[in-house]
Amino acid sequence: MVYDYLIIGQGVSGTFLSYFLQQQEKTVLVIDLPTKQSPSHIAAGIINPVTGRRMTTAWMAEQVMPFAWEAYTEIGNDLGITAISHRNVIDFFPNPFMREGFLEKIKAADEYVFAYPEQNHFNPYFNYEFGCGEIRPAYSAHMEVLLPAWRNRLISNGALLEEWFDRSALSFHADGVRYRDIMASKIIYCDGPGGFENPQFSLLPYSPNKGEALVLEIPGLPAFNIYKKSMLLVPMTDENKFWIGSSYAWKFDNPDPTQEFLDKTKAVLDEWLKLPYKILEHRSGLRPATMERRPFCGIHPHHPQVAILNGMGTKGCSLAPFFAKQLADHLVNGTEITPDADVKRFTKILSRSN
Ligand SMILES: Cc1cc2nc3c(=O)[nH]c(=O)nc-3n(C[C@H](O)[C@H](O)[C@H](O)COP(=O)(O)OP(=O)(O)OC[C@H]3O[C@@H](n4cnc5c(N)ncnc54)[C@H](O)[C@@H]3O)c2cc1C
Repeated sequence: MVYDYLIIGQGVSGTFLSYFLQQQEKTVLVIDLPTKQSPSHIAAGIINPVTGRRMTTAWMAEQVMPFAWEAYTEIGNDLGITAISHRNVIDFFPNPFMREGFLEKIKAADEYVFAYPEQNHFNPYFNYEFGCGEIRPAYSAHMEVLLPAWRNRLISNGALLEEWFDRSALSFHADGVRYRDIMASKIIYCDGPGGFENPQFSLLPYSPNKGEALVLEIPGLPAFNIYKKSMLLVPMTDENKFWIGSSYAWKFDNPDPTQEFLDKTKAVLDEWLKLPYKILEHRSGLRPATMERRPFCGIHPHHPQVAILNGMGTKGCSLAPFFAKQLADHLVNGTEITPDADVKRFTKILSRSN
């Protein structure tokens, strides 16, 4: 069997890369075996234009946000699903200091930070003695709907191999790669945290980050917004189902759920939420984060048959569609990749890889 591209991984990166390559009439075979800790499967799908406690504008937000809205809408239309919803963030200030910081942003005419005129609107649902503001536009990408729908499309096109990719069965040739009886002109790794162990790219400056979240049932809580007060509470596709998270741990023993996160989150909910809730699930996994907080995208500088789309860190749901399109265009038409994301910035380091 001969394909143009062999893609390892069908998280959000592999999903959009295979989508854009197929749109350009290229043949792809995706090899993927999801685990319950794959970050794309446990993420909330928040696409937020600001980041961190200081509400700094996210890297490339002006390009990445509108691109993400269009890309998820388009793939959703193609699949007959809703892959993205508009859900502005209602930011409940946890203390007067945070309220002050938010008001300063409004005064400075920040593009994404606004006052919320109806301060009492959320009183039936939440405790928030210091008021609230609004961050907009913000979106929620429905990974729990998109990933299985795209997987089914790949299966029906004969473009998915559901197995663990066995590196020992891969060989390189002048005009491409061979994996068992499969030939392709390139192999593209979209393997998320699996990439930490990939001999071709493991020298890249990854900085794994652990995250945990809970899935809740909260009957009666409106699902039109993402709510924030030290944690983010995000409506999911199923009625009354919400996601709350997450933690950011740079030091950890394993990627498993912890009692500490569970206790902390319950304490936050008990203080913040006025409605009864039920915990349905406790999720945890590693984010494929990088030291410079920029993705790895492009062709291996020393192995032209090998490429990568990884290092999405805390922002895979917003960055992956944009860089998947850049990589697809680069592979097919030779167009440029944003230099800060292009893996060729690590040409020297990667000269020591296998
Ligand atoms: C708790 C948590 C919450 C998050 N929330 C958000 C959020 O709200 N918004 C946001 O933008 N980002 C969020 N993120 C980050 C986001 O999830 C990641 O950046 C993104 O999912 C990375 O996607 P990926 O496709 O690159 O990798 P992955 O999701 O890891 O996908 C890789 C796929 O490849 C498969 N794979 C790997 N190796 C092999 C192999 N050898 N053989 C077969 N299959 C293989 C894996 O099983 C997986 O299915 C969150 C992360 C966590 C942990």
